[in-house]
Amino acid sequence: MEVADAIVVGGGPGGSTCAWKLREAGLDVIVLDRATFPRHKLCAGWVTPEVLSDLEVDPRDYPLGLMSFDELHIHWKALTVKLKSPQHSIRRLEFDHFLLCRAGVRVLQHKVSKIQQDNGDHVIDGKYRARFLIGAGGTSCPVYRTYFNGRNPRLSALQTATYEQEFAYRWKDPRCHLWFFDNGLPGYAWYVPKANGYVNVGLGGMADKLKQQGGHIREHWRMFVDKLRRKKLVSYDDYNPTGYSYYLRGDTDVSAGNTYIVGDAAGLATRDMCEGIGPAVKTGLAAADAIITGTEYSLAGLSEFTGRGLASRILERKFVRHAIGVERRVPFR
Ligand SMILES: Cc1cc2nc3c(=O)[nH]c(=O)nc-3n(C[C@H](O)[C@H](O)[C@H](O)COP(=O)(O)OP(=O)(O)OC[C@H]3O[C@@H](n4cnc5c(N)ncnc54)[C@H](O)[C@@H]3O)c2cc1C
Repeated sequence: MEVADAIVVGGGPGGSTCAWKLREAGLDVIVLDRATFPRHKLCAGWVTPEVLSDLEVDPRDYPLGLMSFDELHIHWKALTVKLKSPQHSIRRLEFDHFLLCRAGVRVLQHKVSKIQQDNGDHVIDGKYRARFLIGAGGTSCPVYRTYFNGRNPRLSALQTATYEQEFAYRWKDPRCHLWFFDNGLPGYAWYVPKANGYVNVGLGGMADKLKQQGGHIREHWRMFVDKLRRKKLVSYDDYNPTGYSYYLRGDTDVSAGNTYIVGDAAGLATRDMCEGIGPAVKTGLAAADAIITGTEYSLAGLSEFTGRGLASRILERKFVRHAIGVERRVPFR
């Protein structure tokens, strides 16, 4: 049996951030991830300066691919606006591996399945034991499934469906483009150029609404890649996109005794732009702080992710309003 003070399930940004801070405070930490890093993670991979600042990463010192943008090019029907919004693009394959190495903890490849309690400790698959357990396993996190799903299930009205691909490509347009609500998509599509000759293209929307419309996200994908070709942004013949689903922020419990969930495991992506890296990092930090100081773990620090400005409020309404009056029933904390 491997024994530690804390076990973190999932080595994405939420898990690695939590592990990093716990290790800095002197705890012995194990990260278990079903994947071997560097691992592929579906994600457009844009992060705000605030995310890098929370991670104490100076973009000038980041040793891997990073591009910086001062503005986003937003398209809505015939309208195009430049939105001042400093962002960076990174490749998740590199970024997540970098953060996990930086955490400086034991990282073991293991798919977590059975979690039990024994004398106040958590025992995982009969092989790993620790007092504190942090669930950072994304949408399918086994810690969420074991301890949180029954108490406070995530709402399907806040579920997103996405489709995307990242590939080596000699892009010519170095700007970041977003297309909102094209062909009735209840969400948006993106073109994000990356350093060292990569591009990420994809789209996402609210899953319930897509289902109600009776179409499939694949049809939106076909129309989107046609548009990219017509606009001479990307002409590519080898598309093989994949899908993933995650949840926008609801009213989920995030701790129970010495068990904590962070990031997508708790369903915390922002309701305006569906960004999840920032909330994963913030909650990774908050959970570590609660363990280190013996205080309550709360989502209070996430409030700045919501309701910023008019554009943010309009998007939030568009994304979560459609189903069962969910905006009234799912308050922010
Ligand atoms: C197509 C798409 C585009 C996106 N674009 C952006 C964006 O541009 N900017 C942004 O901020 N957010 C974006 N997001 C959201 C963002 O990717 C997530 O919110 C973020 O990765 C959450 O981080 P996390 O650490 O909580 O989980 P993850 O990064 O998902 O990490 C979870 C880890 O847990 C591991 N795991 C899962 N199950 C088990 C198990 N049973 N046992 C062991 N390990 C397990 C997985 O292998 C994985 O490594 C996007 C998401 C998608 C799908």
